[in-house]
Amino acid sequence: MQTILLVRYGEIMLKGLNRPIFEKKLVENIRKAVRELGEMNIVRAQGRIFIEPHEGFDEFPRLIEKVRKVFGVVSVSPAYKTGTDMETVYETAVLTAKEAVAKDGAKTFKVEARRQDKNYTLTSPEICQKVGGYVLRNVKELKVDVHNPDFELTVEIRDHAYIFSRVIPAFGGMPTGSSGKAVLLLSGGIDSPVAGWMMAKRGIELHAVHFYSYPYTSERAKDKVIKLTKILSEYTSPVTLHIVPFTDIQLRINERCSIGLITIIMRRAMMRIAERIALQNDALALITGESVGQVASQTMEALNATNAVVKLPVYRPLVGMDKVEVINIAEKIGTYETSILPYEDCCTVFVAKHPVIKPKLPIVEQQEAYAELDELIETAIQNTETITFQ
Ligand code: ATP
Ligand code: MG
Repeated sequence: MQTILLVRYGEIMLKGLNRPIFEKKLVENIRKAVRELGEMNIVRAQGRIFIEPHEGFDEFPRLIEKVRKVFGVVSVSPAYKTGTDMETVYETAVLTAKEAVAKDGAKTFKVEARRQDKNYTLTSPEICQKVGGYVLRNVKELKVDVHNPDFELTVEIRDHAYIFSRVIPAFGGMPTGSSGKAVLLLSGGIDSPVAGWMMAKRGIELHAVHFYSYPYTSERAKDKVIKLTKILSEYTSPVTLHIVPFTDIQLRINERCSIGLITIIMRRAMMRIAERIALQNDALALITGESVGQVASQTMEALNATNAVVKLPVYRPLVGMDKVEVINIAEKIGTYETSILPYEDCCTVFVAKHPVIKPKLPIVEQQEAYAELDELIETAIQNTETITFQ
């Protein structure tokens, strides 16, 4: 008997003729995600993926954690893989049930059976009945509850029998690399890592761009962004982080532009640089963590003024979300703790007390022209550092 990990995937099933390409990509991404846990046999069959670690493998929690983070995976189940004779199936079912009692304090169960092998001696209802009866007789702590059981003891008969009690949900989505690339404007805040995660979930490969204003922002603010990128790379890799020195641009804007418009002009400079980096890397869109009305620079007028400076589409997956909804996702994906570390961001260093809430584009453009940013933007791009997380 062997313990394996059974992997379910959903949406990519729908892709018709492209389906094999998506499935291949998914298997490839899983392989990459688990590579540091040693050699494993990973096979795709009948709309499932089976991960079979070597004998004596004892790192299932880590394996599950890694596979759960692969976009495209809908859920996973650690399962026993055994022979299909009923004696073995009974014993393994009892073992699985006892584990559910011991680990989770389960009191009720029901049996689910599926038969891939239609020539198998028993039908699915017969398997349910017989396995259920056997478990009841051998695990005294358990009763049957068909409506609301503590766990479903599932028996799947294929080339082998697969028996499990736990279905651990994952995130779904599309395998990374199955869509194009996009550039995420990544601050150290709560929103942009979530925005990047949401688009990566659609199969988009990320480049992240961070603007920092040393010495107005510290090394630690930069480390925080590196850490956030690393967390994102557990879900989607590779991610390349481009760190752009932004101090001179901010100082120039501050010095020459009308104070109420400095934030919007700074945001436009970020967008211009991000678009350049996108074009250098064959990316097809920009991604930001903006949401309508959250702050002065995110009114509809301000968003229009920011958008107008670039040609590439800007994806704003949080555009209609409340902060609490964003925070919930940040917690779920593991970026929240890092995002709330209290290091200053370049936006918070140079900020007007009374920003213009409804900026008019012609005025913004006129003010921006005073700053003569072209050369500074070139220099910033030339001095950009990159780090790739594989
Ligand atoms: P976040 O929580 O993502 O920082 P926010 O609510 O603080 O967002 P702003 O500071 O107005 O909003 O930033 C809006 C968006 O601009 C961010 O979501 C991010 O995409 C981008 N951005 C802001 N500051 C930076 C930065 N220093 N480097 C890269 N992108 C940035
Ligand atoms: Mg911010």
